[in-house]
Amino acid sequence: MPVRTGRQYLEGLRSQEREVWLSGVRVRDVTTHPGLASGARTIASLYDMQCAPDLREIMTYASPTTGDRVGLSFIIPRTQSDLVHRREMMMRWARATCGMMGRSPDFMNVTFAAWAASADYFARGRAQFGDNMRQYYEHIRENDLVLTHSLINLQRSRNASGLYNLEQGTALHCVRETDAGIIVRGARVLATLGPFADEIAVYSPRVALHSEGHSPFALNFAIPCSTRGLRFLCRDSFDQGRSRFDYPLSSRFEEMDCVVFFDDVLVPWDRVFLLGDVELLNGTGVATNFSAHSAHQGAVKNIAKCEFVLGVALLMTEALGNAHVPHTESYIGELMLTSSLMNACIRGAEADAKPDRWGVMCPDPVMIESTRNLFMTAYPRMIEILHLLGSSSLMITPSKADLDGPVAEDIVQYLATDKSTARDRVRLFRLASDLAISSFGNRQVLYERFYASDPLSRARALAAIYPKGDAVRRVLDFLNRDDP
Ligand SMILES: Cc1cc2nc3c(=O)[nH]c(=O)nc-3n(C[C@H](O)[C@H](O)[C@H](O)COP(=O)(O)OP(=O)(O)OC[C@H]3O[C@@H](n4cnc5c(N)ncnc54)[C@H](O)[C@@H]3O)c2cc1C
Repeated sequence: MPVRTGRQYLEGLRSQEREVWLSGVRVRDVTTHPGLASGARTIASLYDMQCAPDLREIMTYASPTTGDRVGLSFIIPRTQSDLVHRREMMMRWARATCGMMGRSPDFMNVTFAAWAASADYFARGRAQFGDNMRQYYEHIRENDLVLTHSLINLQRSRNASGLYNLEQGTALHCVRETDAGIIVRGARVLATLGPFADEIAVYSPRVALHSEGHSPFALNFAIPCSTRGLRFLCRDSFDQGRSRFDYPLSSRFEEMDCVVFFDDVLVPWDRVFLLGDVELLNGTGVATNFSAHSAHQGAVKNIAKCEFVLGVALLMTEALGNAHVPHTESYIGELMLTSSLMNACIRGAEADAKPDRWGVMCPDPVMIESTRNLFMTAYPRMIEILHLLGSSSLMITPSKADLDGPVAEDIVQYLATDKSTARDRVRLFRLASDLAISSFGNRQVLYERFYASDPLSRARALAAIYPKGDAVRRVLDFLNRDDP
């Protein structure tokens, strides 16, 4: 089947009744719920982009099995040019959401493309698991499905023994094997996009440690979101049903985050990719390079985000008339630097990409993983810069109702600046406020701090692949230099 339209995607969501809870109420239809409908529509608009005749070449490629046009984020990159095309496709989606929907479907598509190519790795667990992976990848590619994922077990204890989140009774684990499949029980965080996804993928990150060779916590599988016993618990929606003028971002890009409960859920055998094998689980990242591919998607999204924040900052200084003030120039310079660094890393990662053992063109892992570590601290700083540039202007944000109401005259007279009409200023600063002050904006900061795991885990992940030997050798060579 060729790429889906937005309408087909929304119909798919409606046809699959899933258990989604929000504010104590079960959501029967996520496509019409006031707190979720806009987010669903935005994802639908991404699907429409794939079908737009003028974007066909950029957004899709010919399916290797059917010849139908399928989403380009599913491609298994074999050449550097494939990586570049994939970036260009993902950039279209990222710019369409101003970089504010981190878990757009391409995030998981690139992961499963990497895993399908390295399916023999999963076959080491059981031969069937390799075939399962290949078939599943084809299934999601040919049906253009949206996946959410949840990697992290809820932590019951924050003491040293709780470090790896494997507490019995809380962490997701396999309860038993049956003829039909495995039964899993427990809870996971944090399924961003949960209410808007067709399927949920469950696996554990490379850094997960298990103390035994075989563990009920070592899992990798994917199932439909409508599977019986699967329950998504949403946080409050940040889409308050306000207008596009009042909340330009919250009213469009609510991607929602959920805790997921697995109440003795049956995972059919053909959806199991890894079971119990601790060594295989811990080796997945290094062996399959999936993390480098998901980092490639993340870096594209972050470039779109950098560009957007920079654009807002430039317009703010223009409207306030302080673009020439030295400290303003210094803040803007910082934003430009982050943007350039992100661009440099992604281009470097593509330029130094090499085929891995599966014949997949892999972005340079150090370069591409660095973008994740960089953005954890860079994005909070970018938002801090908006605070510093905006100050009280971020609070001088009358609503559309105010602009149309009895105090409109005062607003028009007093809120104008030398460079901007009152209306334009308010429109811009409502956007800046949504980006930097609102619940939605703060969640974006939290997302960038943690979406790719906590800072310590990320530092360790980078250290694990960084070529430390070269740096050490050069210093030792220097120390041993025998010059006069
Ligand atoms: C907005 C948002 C969206 C997300 N989306 C997804 C998603 O779509 N899919 C997904 O799988 N995950 C998602 N995540 C979850 C993300 O993977 C986790 O938040 C991240 O891995 C950190 O885990 P944690 O939240 O349990 O934090 P914690 O592990 O509790 O870390 C919090 C802090 O405590 C420290 N710490 C942790 N354990 C200990 C301990 N035992 N002793 C002392 N200090 C400790 C950490 O170093 C860190 O500084 C998302 C997170 C956020 C915030």
